[in-house]
Parts: sequence; structure tokens; C-alpha cells
Amino acid sequence: MTNKEYADLLLPGVKHSWEEYEKMYPERDLDDKAIVTRYAPSPTGLPHMGNLFQAFMAMSFAKQTNGVFYLRIEDTDTSRTVENGIRKILDAIYPFGIEFDEGVISQTEEKGKYGPYIQSKRQDIYKAYAKKLIEEGKAYASFLTKEELDEIREQQSKSKQRLGIYGRYAKDRNLTKEETLERINKGQSYIIRIKSPGSFFNKIKVNDLIKGTIEMPENDIDEVIIKSDGLPTYHFAHAIDDHLMHTTHVFRGDEWLSSVPKHVQLFEILGFKPVKYCHLAPLTKSDEGKIRKLSKRKDPEATLSFYPENGIPNEAIMLYLATITNSNFEGWHDQNPDKQIKDFTFDFRKCSSSAGTLYDLPKLYNISKNYISRLTKEEVYNNTLEYAKNYDVELKEILEKYPDYSKAIFNIEREQKKPRKDYEKYSDVKGQIWYMYDELFDKYKEEYGYDFQSITDINEIKNIINTYIDKYYDENDDKETWFNKVKELSDELGYASNMKEYKENPDNFKGSVADVSTVIRVSLTTRSQTPDLYEILRLLGKDRIKERFNIVK
Ligand code: GLU
Repeated sequence: MTNKEYADLLLPGVKHSWEEYEKMYPERDLDDKAIVTRYAPSPTGLPHMGNLFQAFMAMSFAKQTNGVFYLRIEDTDTSRTVENGIRKILDAIYPFGIEFDEGVISQTEEKGKYGPYIQSKRQDIYKAYAKKLIEEGKAYASFLTKEELDEIREQQSKSKQRLGIYGRYAKDRNLTKEETLERINKGQSYIIRIKSPGSFFNKIKVNDLIKGTIEMPENDIDEVIIKSDGLPTYHFAHAIDDHLMHTTHVFRGDEWLSSVPKHVQLFEILGFKPVKYCHLAPLTKSDEGKIRKLSKRKDPEATLSFYPENGIPNEAIMLYLATITNSNFEGWHDQNPDKQIKDFTFDFRKCSSSAGTLYDLPKLYNISKNYISRLTKEEVYNNTLEYAKNYDVELKEILEKYPDYSKAIFNIEREQKKPRKDYEKYSDVKGQIWYMYDELFDKYKEEYGYDFQSITDINEIKNIINTYIDKYYDENDDKETWFNKVKELSDELGYASNMKEYKENPDNFKGSVADVSTVIRVSLTTRSQTPDLYEILRLLGKDRIKERFNIVK
């Protein structure tokens, strides 16, 4: 019996040979420096921020080299696959602006010439390559039963040996073809393992583009490549897929780092060109001074739905991810605030190689605050409305009812060199502008309560606002005239209009012009902190101002 016939018996019904598959997946027509990479999630649940970070990084490096970034679904562990797993991944990742050049694009569609991009649809391919290894004597049928495997594991644990099927534990690796077929004919079930050519006592050096050079023992474990359900293991599928899809760089979590010796060996025995590895540390967080892993259970910011729910702009998230990808991004962005992420050149040498990447939500908020401050009034209006449509009906209705007025509100201290930084996220908007709308003012003023500061005597308050509206308010005043009048008002009522004088002799005055404007501000808005008061007065208009002054009690 030829080796080929033998391989056919071990893995029957395979439609194509590996040589045919090689032809079906020709080299990509790309620049030498182009990075081809992928995001390769398993449909085992919802992707989290760590996954998004990984996808962002892979995408950024691929795009800047005019390479290819694709989405591959790794669903070979059927016991962990969840219902609608692919849908969940796509729905979670797409809204963030992660763009795939090829791969799975919906539950039922793919784009690109290197598919199928769902591993469970590639079974024939894996088997074709497993047959190649069997034919070459580099893989074999292993009949170890679950009981035998348990016993080996127990024995190894007890005597503190490395776990796995290697050396004397790999007892089926030397079965002859005849012995193997005899067992198969008897109906014994089997899986396919590689015949590892490695020795644990040799060292290999792996140059990880993020972690640096790492020395590890060579793999000597006869790793499973085809499982009893006919599906490949992650290790085997990784080698075959990344070879056929011509991946150049593998970005993945560093939980895979210890498997690299297996992967390097698989590429070698399959005769594949090795890929470059970029292992990413998990995201961490500082919790009461201690650094720990970001946790989906404990930290809402680990969950991707947290971001749309709070109206955090995607662009800000991307800017933050760029900030934690490369240590020099932040400085670059500060100097080039109008440039886009794609104008920055990411560099592997500027990635953090440490055990964890700190994920700092306050920092993200700060980036987001700066980002929103630079948007136009139209953009803030549209983005807030978009957020409100999904998460705040009341806000949505008010914005839709008063589009121009709302835009004018958003325009206060905006579209200027140093814009006001009011909002970290669109969910902050209502809390900061509700008082500009009568409907919301009536509803929320009691709840928020008037935040009068130093002047609390209601008669004095009434005196200030009445004198102001009767004698000094003129809706046509420009800003300077307006402010001079507030000063005159202050002088008339015994408040210092000059802060310097006030500071020198506070006892000569009832207070200062600052206290007087606070009374006006709070009477109109209930808040002691608002954007520019002159603008607020202008937008509210005379009737509303009078009405609001009237109800202060
Ligand atoms: N499916 C693997 C995971 O979700 C992907 C690892 C890889 O990117 O190769 O961990």
C-alpha cells in the first residue's frame, strides 16, 4: 500500500489534494512591505474592548502598508460556539469603524478570494494537509482513549512532569501501517497527531514584533491536528489558514505565546513560510492602586455596548486606542489635531511590550472631551440626536422640535480657537443644556434646585434681578455694553464692579460683580456653572428671561 492510499484510508472522502488547494490560494499581488493580517475571533460570546483593541491594531498596521485586513471566524471548538455567534461579533465590532477588506461580512456573506473565511466550512482543506503529513510520515493516527489520556495526565502531574503526549507517552507514533489499519478495522476511534520532530532540550528563538526576542523550548509534543469530530485544532487551523490566506502578521492575545513553539514547528513541517507574531498583552486597569486585568464582569468599560449606551464617540475611542497602541501617538496628535489617525505611522517599536496595557477610562474621556469640543454645532447636534434616538427619547424629541435653537445652544463658545469643553460623551448633553428649553426647565428645575452661591437672601436676589431687568437689560446690547451694565448694576446696589478693589477692601462692599452675575445666571438656569452668560441671555430672549425671573422665590 502506498503512503497516499494509507492517508486516504485514515482520512477518507477528502475532495481536493493539498496541491490543488495551493493553486486555489495563489500569492497576493501586493507590495513586499504590505501587511496581511486578520481579526480571527471565535464565536464564543460577545467581543470585548480587548478584542476591539486587537482588531484596531491589526487594521491600522495593515492599512498603513496598503495591505489586507480580513475577518476570519474560528469556530472549530463547537462546544464553545454560541448561538448567533457571528452576528454578535459583527454587530459589536462594525459600529466602531473597524473596516475589513475581506472576510465574513454578514451572517451569510463573505467577500474576498481567499475564503471560505469560516473555519467550519474549511474541513476538507485541513484534512488535505493532514493527509500530506500522514503521507510524509509526519503525522499519525492516535488511538489513546479518554481513560488512557486521563491516566497519563495524572501520572505526569503526580511526578511533576510536563503534560502532554510526547516521548514514551506517544505510544501510537510508531505503529506500523498494518497495525494502525487493523485497529481501525476493529472500529477503534482515532485522531490525527503530528509526530513532533522536536526536543524539549533544544531552545528556539522567536522574534515577536511586540514582545521582542523570546527563547522557548522546542516543541516535542505530538499535538492533535484533526480531532475526533473531524475538525482541526486551533493550532492546525492557524497554520493552514494563515498560510493559504497569505497572512504575514498574526496579531493575537498573548495567551497564545506559549503555543508559539507548536506553531513554528507546524509551519516548518508543513513547509510553510513562517508568519510574524505580534502578541498583545491584556488590557489592565488600576483598581485602588493595584493593576489588574480589565474584567468583563467588574468593569463596564470592558463591554463594547458601554460606549454607544453612553454616547462616547467612536472617533474618540479610536483615538484612545491609537494612544495605547503607540506611545508617541498622543504627542503627535496634540501637535496635529486636525490630522487623522490614518496620517500617523504606527511602529512596532513604539508598542508597549509590558505584561499589560493600561486601559484608562478617564483618559479616554479626556480625549473624547477634546474631540467633541472641536466638532461643529451641526456635528454635535447630529451626533447627540443619533445618540438620543436610541437612548433618550425626551432629548430626541426636544432636539427635533428645536433644531436651530439647539444648534445655537451647541454653538456657544464653539467653533473658535479655544472651544469650551463641556461634554465627554453625548449622554452628558442633556444634563448641561436642559435649562435652555422651557419644557425641560419646568420639569427639572425643582429636581436640580437653584444653586445660589453667596447671596441667599431672596429679597436681595429679587432686588438684583428686578433692577437688572427694569433698568439695565437691553436685548440689543453687544457683549461689552452688556457687561458694563452688569457692572453699573453692581455699583448701584453696593457690589464692587472692580474685582481688584473688592479684593483689597471686601468689607466696603456687599459682594462683587461676580456675585451679581451669579444671581442672574442661577435665576435663569438654576446652575452656577454654565457657558457664557451673555450668550445664554441672548438665546433665551426677553420674554423667557422675565418669566424665569418672575418664578424665582
Ligand atoms: N480564535 C482565536 C481566539 O479567539 C484567535 C487567535 C488568533 O488570532 O489566531 O483567541
